[in-house]
Amino acid sequence: MSLYKDQELKIYNSITGKKEVFKPINEGHIGMYVCGPTVYSNVHLGNVRTFMSFDMIFRYFKHLGYKVRYVRNITDAGHLENDADEGEDRIAKKARLEQIEPMEVVQMYTVDFHNILNKFNFLPPSIEPTATGHIIEQIEIIKEILEKGFAYEVNGSVYFDVLKFNKTNHYGKLSGRNVEDLIHNTRALDGQSDKKNPQDFALWKKAEPQHIMRWPSPWSDGFPGWHLECTAMSTKYLGEQFDIHGGGMDLKFPHHECEIAQAEACNNVSPVNYWMHANMLTLNGQKMAKSTGNNILPGEIFTGENDKLSKPFSPSVTRFFMMQAHYRSILDFSSDAIEASEKGYNKLMEAINSLSKLDASNSSDFDVKAWSQKCYDALNDDFNTPILIAELFSAVKFINQVKDGKASVTKNDLEFLTDKMNAFVFDILGLTNDAVSSDNTNTLSDTVEVLIKLRAEARANKDFALSDKIRDELLAVGIQLKDGKDGTTFTTN
Ligand SMILES: [Zn+2]
Repeated sequence: MSLYKDQELKIYNSITGKKEVFKPINEGHIGMYVCGPTVYSNVHLGNVRTFMSFDMIFRYFKHLGYKVRYVRNITDAGHLENDADEGEDRIAKKARLEQIEPMEVVQMYTVDFHNILNKFNFLPPSIEPTATGHIIEQIEIIKEILEKGFAYEVNGSVYFDVLKFNKTNHYGKLSGRNVEDLIHNTRALDGQSDKKNPQDFALWKKAEPQHIMRWPSPWSDGFPGWHLECTAMSTKYLGEQFDIHGGGMDLKFPHHECEIAQAEACNNVSPVNYWMHANMLTLNGQKMAKSTGNNILPGEIFTGENDKLSKPFSPSVTRFFMMQAHYRSILDFSSDAIEASEKGYNKLMEAINSLSKLDASNSSDFDVKAWSQKCYDALNDDFNTPILIAELFSAVKFINQVKDGKASVTKNDLEFLTDKMNAFVFDILGLTNDAVSSDNTNTLSDTVEVLIKLRAEARANKDFALSDKIRDELLAVGIQLKDGKDGTTFTTN
C-alpha cells in the first residue's frame, strides 16, 4: 500500500498564493521540473540551497510511494548576461575570457556542479537534459507560436508578442504583475533593438558574426532565447500539462512568466498545476555577491578556507543547517549559526547510533505512532522541515531517557521508532551519518593518548626521529598534535 493514500499533503502554490491539497494529474505519478544551473561558473551556495529544497521534496514524494519523474535541466546556451535579451551569452563570454571552447566551460562547470551535489548527498534527477541537446524541439515551438500569431520575426530574430498574448491570456499572473505596469516600468528601447515593445522577449536571436554558439534555423543562424529551453524540455519529458514546476524565487519573473506565456501560446493550456519557489540564502545578513566579497563557495565550507568561517563543516552538517529553515524562508548563513547546527546534528546522530543498543521493556513511555504522524504532519504542511526537526528532537529526548534508564520502550515500538528515524533523517532529509559515534570517539582518543605518551618518552630519550615519526604519521591520517604548556593535545579533521 502506498503511504500517499494516508497522508494529505499541502503545497504552497506560488501562482495562487495559497496552500493547496496536492492532487497529481495521474494518480500515483508526479511530473516535476526544476530549472537547473547555467554552467558558466562554480555552483553558488544559494543555488545549492534551492536544489537541496527540491531534492528533499523529491525524496519525500518517493518516500510516500509516488513514481516521480524529476527533470532538472542544464542551461548550456542561450542565457545572456542580462535578462532583457542583451549582452553576451554567459558561457560564450567565459570561453572567450579563458580562451577555451564553450563546451569546455560547460563540461568543467557541469562536473563541478555534480561533484558538489554528490558531496551533499543529492539524489540524481530522473532526467537532466541540456538546452543544446534540444535545439530542434525549441525551433518547433517557435514555428508553432509564430503560426498561432503570438510572435513576429525581425531581421532573423523572433520575438514573443507580449501585448498580443495579453489580449487573450494574462501575462504576469505568476509574479502578480500586469502588462500596464510593465509598460510603465520597462525602460524605453535604445534604438538598437528589433523588438516592437520593450516587454517582448526573444524566442530566437540571430547570432552576430563573432558569436560562436550558433545553430541553423528557418530565420537565421542563431540561438534560442533562454526561456524557451525550459518550455521545450518540460513539454517533451512531462507533457503539455504537468504537476510541479520549481526554481529559485528570482526566476519567477521574467523566466517563469515567459515559460507560461510560451506554453499557453503554443498548446492553449496552462502548463503547470503547482508552482514552487525556494527562497534565497544570505551571508551574515547580506546578499551574497562575488563583487562585494560577501561570498562563500560550497567547497570552502568543507575546508574552512574562508575568513567568514571559524572552522570547516561537513557537507552533512551544512545540509542539516539548511534543512533547519523552511524552503520558502530566507536563510542567513553565518559561522555561528552553522556551529550551532553542528551541535544539534551531533546530538541527533548520537541518538540514532544508540538506538541499536537500547534495551526493550514490556511497556512504552512514548507514543511512537502519534509522534510519527506529527513528523508526517510537518512535511505535509508544505514540507515544513524545521517543525519536522523539532519533532525529531522530541524523539532524541526520549531515546536519551531510555538510555539513562529513565524511560522504557517495547521491542515493537523500538523497531518502529528506528525505522521512522532512519526514514525521516536519512531518506527524506538526506543526511548522512558522518558523526563518529561516541564509543568510537572514546577508542580513538584513548589510542591517540597512548601514542602521545610514547612520543613524550621518545623525546625524553632524545629519540627525535621516532617522536617526529609519530607526529607525522598521525598527521597523515588526519590527527594533528599540538604541544602546549599543559602537555600535548590533538585535533582531528
Ligand atoms: Zn527554466
